[in-house]
Amino acid sequence: HPEKWCRGFNHFISQCLIKDFEKRPSVTHLLEHPFIKQVHGKDMSLQKQLAELIQEQQQLGSIAKTRHERIHTRRPYHVDRADKYSLDDDLVNLEVLNEDTIIQQLQKRYADLQIYTYVGDILIALNPFQNLSIYSPQFSRLYHGVKRSSNPPHIFASADAAYQSMVTFSKDQCIIISGESGAGKTESAHLIVQHLTFLGKANNRALREKILQVNPLVEAFGNACTAINDNSSRFGKYLEMMFTPTGAVMGAKISEYLLEKSRVVKQAVGEKNFHIFYYIYAGLYHQKKLSEYRLPDKKPPRYIDNETGRVMHDIVTKDSYGRQFEAIQHCFRIIGFTDEEVYSVYRILTGILNTGNIEFAAISSQHQTDKSEVPNPEALDNAAALLSIGSEELQEALTSHCVVTRGETIIRTNTVDKAADVRDAMSKALYSRLFSWIVNRINTLLQPDKNICSAENGMNVGILDIFGFENFTRNSFEQLCINIANEQIQFYFNQHIFALEQMEYQSEGIDATAVEYEDNRPLLDMFLQKPMGLLSLLDEESRFPQATDLTLVDKFEDNLRCKYFWRPKGVELSFGIQHYAGKVLYDASAFLEKNRDTLPADVVVVLRTSENKLLQQLFSSPLTKTGMFCTALLTFSLLQLPYSLMDLLSKMVVGQPHFIRCIKPNDDREALMFSHERVLLQLRYTGILETVKIRQKGYSHRILFEEFVKRYYYLAFKAHETPLGSRENCLAILEKSKLDNWILGKTKVFLKYYHIEQLNLFLREV
Ligand code: ATP
Ligand code: MG
Repeated sequence: HPEKWCRGFNHFISQCLIKDFEKRPSVTHLLEHPFIKQVHGKDMSLQKQLAELIQEQQQLGSIAKTRHERIHTRRPYHVDRADKYSLDDDLVNLEVLNEDTIIQQLQKRYADLQIYTYVGDILIALNPFQNLSIYSPQFSRLYHGVKRSSNPPHIFASADAAYQSMVTFSKDQCIIISGESGAGKTESAHLIVQHLTFLGKANNRALREKILQVNPLVEAFGNACTAINDNSSRFGKYLEMMFTPTGAVMGAKISEYLLEKSRVVKQAVGEKNFHIFYYIYAGLYHQKKLSEYRLPDKKPPRYIDNETGRVMHDIVTKDSYGRQFEAIQHCFRIIGFTDEEVYSVYRILTGILNTGNIEFAAISSQHQTDKSEVPNPEALDNAAALLSIGSEELQEALTSHCVVTRGETIIRTNTVDKAADVRDAMSKALYSRLFSWIVNRINTLLQPDKNICSAENGMNVGILDIFGFENFTRNSFEQLCINIANEQIQFYFNQHIFALEQMEYQSEGIDATAVEYEDNRPLLDMFLQKPMGLLSLLDEESRFPQATDLTLVDKFEDNLRCKYFWRPKGVELSFGIQHYAGKVLYDASAFLEKNRDTLPADVVVVLRTSENKLLQQLFSSPLTKTGMFCTALLTFSLLQLPYSLMDLLSKMVVGQPHFIRCIKPNDDREALMFSHERVLLQLRYTGILETVKIRQKGYSHRILFEEFVKRYYYLAFKAHETPLGSRENCLAILEKSKLDNWILGKTKVFLKYYHIEQLNLFLREV
């Protein structure tokens, strides 16, 4: 970027300097250039600055050259590597094991565009921030059912391992993808679905097509552009792909967790609303259908006009949003939504956009100062028309509320602020219920045909992709929810990799040195304990009508006396938490309101009168999901109801887990840039060093004697024999298979991660 180092000089001079420098790339020579001497005289600081910039430029040039050479001479990804197994592929093979060697290895591989690296059976994926040509069907074939060491590490290999393991052992599998925002979880999840769809070759092509459309559709509604990631997941997603006992894909099911619905009505500076709103607005704009949905064509609705003017400019000049809208229409059609359903969805979405335009103004009369009216009744009419409800009824529900006291119902008016809150609460409720409906509808459309595959004999691979750990300049209630979820995932990882493993060694009488790791249990306890954990305190405070966000933070401070919580001086409404992934400062403004998440009954009553059947259905369920004691955050708690994340985690414990740790190599989203500090930080908090150690020393597979004999008796016995599940028989099988480094405990066989692969290959040969 010569412009950069020539800043401060006018254009003509810059051009001369650049030409001169290109002819003779020497800084000293350049500083002697008559222009510099003449124009800037003795201004040494400018000369120094120029020299530094030029040096930086030279460095960048040499880095680019080295990278270019590396890329063009790198090991081709697709050659048959059966005899070229590289020790570099797995960090477990490192002879000297410390943070430095790990990071060097990753950096070297990243410069070679080898973004994937194993740690035993765990996959590390560095975000390449560029499209790589390693995900074609040719690659799917390459990674199909072969020994892991035959090819360089790849996400397809991990998907393949999960699939093979499911088919061989008839056991559910789950793939847990973690990493901070922008690290590449969602992209990885797509690639896994792509490979699993390839592996589970359904004769039914239509079904395959449908499954591939699920992610784009759900993400149009659940993802948004944030300060960190242009396609950031604003909800947690667990996608289960279902297979027949022979491994043919039969259907899919999604569970969604905690959509960040506050985004519908407000976005932080530089951030955007959910993608679908821009898609639909641009799509209708280009199809010249805005008036049909009562949307203005000069200025976008307020909910999507965070950066005034910019959205309109993008919509008019670029066609990408419009094309995305077409893609979404295609997704709806392929998955099997009816035209009527899709039309209802569009009306609700545009109804929400129109609702956002309703304004309120105070009516002051002598007797009443807290009454509000709508100064732009056309917006009200538009919203009401699209939601198929009465305009007057809507106005009443927004500007007043009913109170029942001593059996009598009294109508009270809403202030301007209150009316605006009710309007936004309505938009949020509409959107989040619509989102859940879409997810449920997809599940119905993709459920396996009961005649072919029943719940009893079907198997599944679940893929968990949730929002990553977040730490912004301002962190609110949503970030707390997201970070607690990540805290739980980390806990599950620790449990699985460290705690359970060590407990088992002990109980089986095996002498294995314990590996120290950072246990985040005390922090989780601080959040989840009853009755004094942060979530319980929040819930309790939410039930006091007089409570404020300040009394809430006071309550936290009084009760959470541990090293993970602190309250900075001088900033009343903030508190800090030492998360496993770093310190986060939270701003408690609106915590209570967001946690209460109430939608006034008056609004529900009106929405239920809608002539739009879908909308009616969205509000036909009980007012609150679980009664007054369930508030938004508590749905995350350990003690909570069916759809909590912990419940999901326990469901996953039943399946065999596979971990993918995504890492963001830099914060600038630049290809080939590897920030030592950023990667180190992520390796530290995710416990990769400890993971490498435990995978080097440990035995990741522990199988009961009986189970082991049942699975592998073919290797040492005749097919018609039914040998007992005894220690001796296990020994016979192990000896016959000529593996080494295994251990027999009191009741279980302890195997290294690579043994399983070898045994399975033997089995297939037999
Ligand atoms: P969040 O927690 O915010 O949802 P995330 O971990 O899901 O973040 P992604 O959306 O998957 O992050 O990735 C961010 C961006 O990084 C993608 O939009 C894409 O540009 C790039 N990216 C990630 N993985 C890959 C890959 N394997 N190949 C090419 N680009 C990638
Ligand atoms: Mg994501």
